[in-house]
Amino acid sequence: MRAAGLDYESRALVERDLPEPRGAGAGEALLRVREVGICGTDRELATFSIGFPPEGESFLVLGHEALAQVVEAGPGVKALKPGDWVVPLVRRPCNPPCFSCARGRRDLCLTGKALERGIFGLHGYFAEYAVDSEADLVRVPEALLDTAVLIEPLSVVEKAVETALRIHEPGARTALVFGAGPIGLLAAMVLELRGLRAAIVSLEPPDHPRARLVAAAGIEYLNTPGERKADIVIEAAGAADAAMAGLRSLAPLGVLGVLGSPDARGEIPFRDMLVKNQTVFGSVNASPEAFQRALEDLPRMDAGVLKRMIHRASFGDFATTIPAAAGGAAKVVHVIE
Ligand SMILES: [Zn+2]
Ligand SMILES: [Zn+2]
Repeated sequence: MRAAGLDYESRALVERDLPEPRGAGAGEALLRVREVGICGTDRELATFSIGFPPEGESFLVLGHEALAQVVEAGPGVKALKPGDWVVPLVRRPCNPPCFSCARGRRDLCLTGKALERGIFGLHGYFAEYAVDSEADLVRVPEALLDTAVLIEPLSVVEKAVETALRIHEPGARTALVFGAGPIGLLAAMVLELRGLRAAIVSLEPPDHPRARLVAAAGIEYLNTPGERKADIVIEAAGAADAAMAGLRSLAPLGVLGVLGSPDARGEIPFRDMLVKNQTVFGSVNASPEAFQRALEDLPRMDAGVLKRMIHRASFGDFATTIPAAAGGAAKVVHVIE
């Protein structure tokens, strides 16, 4: 079968012909992958600055944002049957499981030894077929197929927003989201669903496709936060300055969730933070519950905006789409014919 991924010997992004999986074992489903979404993590992986292949191998199949169809359900599979559509969870628990992984919260893994499909030590879904345990698959209703490839990135957003609202004292009303890419826009849309008034801060001019899509979603768009303060601030820009700017935009009791800034540098205003009871947290990956919330929220969002967030490309385009810097409004989604 065709697969796209990283060759760790030649350090190149290549297509490989891999053997098809032999079928579904007990508790597993054999999947025909239909769509794979690309994000900044894939771009980082392709620079070989993060990620590693499965043990004993020198090739990693990319792709962690997937939509697939069950072709075979193994013995003991209860809720899935051939023809069902699924989105896989990305992370697999560490082994032996830590306290978090043992209680079903692999996203909060304590050992750092949890693996992630298409990222850390497990093959991803940028291939024609894949096999997964039923427990790692989220069934998707057919009505959501058009935008279901967004469920994985949305699950990451759901976890961060839920964490921010849980930490904040009652009464959060305003939100600022730094970054106008798919994660930023999804975060603003979820915050609005939770009843907050959200604005997005990003550098692109107002006529940029990303800014226009934010406007189409009915969300305020700013090039700079200025003196604006918000109860919940989500950093989804992946830029060094965004987390620091977010910190300065916190209202009293404010909560900042950092999703992307890998190497923010600057002075942390601890005095302000303590006298204003502010909190900063980081968030990665998503719990199975966050996937369920994504499944519930997706149909409550503007379908037109969600569709405009997706730009579909063919399998073979990966060599250009993955290394390319994210520029347009859309998330590139490869269709695996
Ligand atoms: Zn991703
Ligand atoms: Zn763990």
